[in-house]
Amino acid sequence: MQSLAISPISGTIRDKLLKLGITDASSLILHLPFRYEDETHLYPINDVPADRTVQVEGMITRSEVMYRPRRQLVCQVEDGTGVLFMRFLNFYGSQVKAYSVGTRVRLLGEARPGFFGVEMVHPKCRILRGNEPLPDGLTPIYPSTAGLPSEALRKLISRVLQTGDGRNHEGILSETLPDAVRERCQLQGFKDSVLFLHQPPPDASPALLRERTHPAWQRIKFDELLAQQLSMRVHYQQRRNGSAPVLIAKNDLTRALLKLLPFDLTQAQKKAFAEISRDLTEPHPMQRLLQGDVGSGKTIVATLAVLQSIENNFQAALMAPTEILAEQHYQKLSTWLAPLLEPRGLRIAWLGGNQKKKERETTLADIAAGNVLLAIGTHALFQNQVEFDRLGLVVIDEQHRFGVHQRLALREKGAGAYAMPHQLMMSATPIPRTLSMSYYADLDVSVIDEMPPGRVPVVTKLVADARRDEVTARVREACREGKQAYWVCPLIQESEALQLKTALETHQGLTRTFPELRIGLVHGRLSFQEKSDVMEAFARGEIHLLVATTVIEVGVDVPNASLMVIEHAERMGLAQLHQLRGRIGRGATGSVCILMYQQPLSTNARERLKIIFENTDGFEIARQDLRLRGPGEFLGARQSGLPMLRFADLERDEGLLDTAGMIAGELLRDYPEAAKRHLHRWLGRKSEYLRA
Ligand code: ADP
Ligand code: MG
Repeated sequence: MQSLAISPISGTIRDKLLKLGITDASSLILHLPFRYEDETHLYPINDVPADRTVQVEGMITRSEVMYRPRRQLVCQVEDGTGVLFMRFLNFYGSQVKAYSVGTRVRLLGEARPGFFGVEMVHPKCRILRGNEPLPDGLTPIYPSTAGLPSEALRKLISRVLQTGDGRNHEGILSETLPDAVRERCQLQGFKDSVLFLHQPPPDASPALLRERTHPAWQRIKFDELLAQQLSMRVHYQQRRNGSAPVLIAKNDLTRALLKLLPFDLTQAQKKAFAEISRDLTEPHPMQRLLQGDVGSGKTIVATLAVLQSIENNFQAALMAPTEILAEQHYQKLSTWLAPLLEPRGLRIAWLGGNQKKKERETTLADIAAGNVLLAIGTHALFQNQVEFDRLGLVVIDEQHRFGVHQRLALREKGAGAYAMPHQLMMSATPIPRTLSMSYYADLDVSVIDEMPPGRVPVVTKLVADARRDEVTARVREACREGKQAYWVCPLIQESEALQLKTALETHQGLTRTFPELRIGLVHGRLSFQEKSDVMEAFARGEIHLLVATTVIEVGVDVPNASLMVIEHAERMGLAQLHQLRGRIGRGATGSVCILMYQQPLSTNARERLKIIFENTDGFEIARQDLRLRGPGEFLGARQSGLPMLRFADLERDEGLLDTAGMIAGELLRDYPEAAKRHLHRWLGRKSEYLRA
């Protein structure tokens, strides 16, 4: 890639450019304006329209720092047709000096009737020296950083557009799309588009530019989406070229497990497992995302995949993001698999964070020697000391909780003589179509879109904190009837200590309120043993009411619990509320989730509560969540290392995304050189990160 050989350019400027993500001439010209100002016209002062941004020019005829009603710099500007005041509430001494009487200035701002007459507050003010012609096109305003204002960027960019980076002018503006493709998609040329956006002609429509619907914007957005599609596909292809153990479906252990289960798989579960099972038989690493709403039964599908690995005498690892969940998987899989594995002398191992040293060492040795065919645990599984003998399959539950790097680490544990194990990721945070087409396009996806039969949907109630008494009455009644309940303590983001304190206090308070009930408490600070003791007691029905922090958010499965109270629900995100609510409604009885909130509610909190109240479908909730938060926040951990879209908007540009997806396939097949140049332009060195 061309380096930023735009001369002369100092090291400080280079650092500032880097801050803006600009590493070379190509990325400099893709640093596009986020808005435009119209400085092509001058309005006579006595004629300025109100409440619109306009430009006037005149001479400063008075200039004064005033102290009442507050400190401010007020200048009177005259142009022969009238008088206007400019007013600065924050200003430097240098401005007072510069805006002295007799100075000619050009102002851009919104004119409004003010205290002194027509005024502009904090206008953009330019001191005129001599005869400066008006620009003949809109002025681009660039995303800038301290020390590198928009104006400086404009000069730098226009120099590069004129002269190139000194070596490779044609390169940075060259067309990457073959003519046939460009014409079919009715896309404007790249060079014209870039020039247009940096230097719009006098007749460019500000509205089209603002809305980003102009053909020039369409082209840029298309190119950005195309680059993303290309990189995802290249990455996908690279993986297909790697090798992994062939795990044939012997249907020996898997069929035996299905016979032992007290239920039949749903059609959706069968289909998902068939897809996974087929992938495992291929000689390259599977990388599949198993999506299914909370409670849809992903665990059993993963367990079948694990058995297919074990049938072939390859190890499997199952990793969960919290100890509670990992422990629960360990319990559940031990129960399911013990009758199958024990007679064959096969073992399951547990690997958690706070295990005794001795015990841990034995486990590690067993894993390394290949005596253990299934290891279940937390992120402890991918620490350096853990070495597998022949790892065939890695299952990652609630994958969105792990960063890209953590997932990578486990994959790189290797499969003995083979390069890579297969990877199955599971997520209960449904991914809207546009996101799965873009940020997840490097994965294959299976969806469980059906709930096990007999589930009664959870009824959600919104109750203001002031009506706490009614809530406690309801809890008492439910527990008397033999039901079990969760009481979820508020999330306190600022301080973990405070969160703990709140949990302890809530537990104390509820113990006083319900002397007749057995009340348990679980939070993040308990030791592993304490946590699992409490969870087991709850699962056995020995605890009526479980006071919990959000540690129970993911995966916990106690079917008899049918009531959940969530305090300060307004502080929680949509995905979190949906996950928490998914802890109930798992048994046959109707379940109720009570969301308590503290008034007054912010607009955003009100909207979130409304969405969770009105929807039970995880996909719909996720779609709304994406709308409210945007992809950056929504993607969370996955985002790290992934370049985000800057220009295209997945929802608004869904059509372009579809086209880009199609064209990406065509380019890679028929025009590999063009695809390479396109990727290079848009991702440069960043494309390295996409190997995640
Ligand atoms: P999730 O997809 O949220 O991980 P789980 O795998 O924990 O869901 O399953 C939720 C509950 O449903 C578990 O108790 C599980 O045993 C049960 N389950 C799974 N599949 C079925 C099925 N086909 N029929 C009945 N119950 C099922
Ligand atoms: Mg689960």
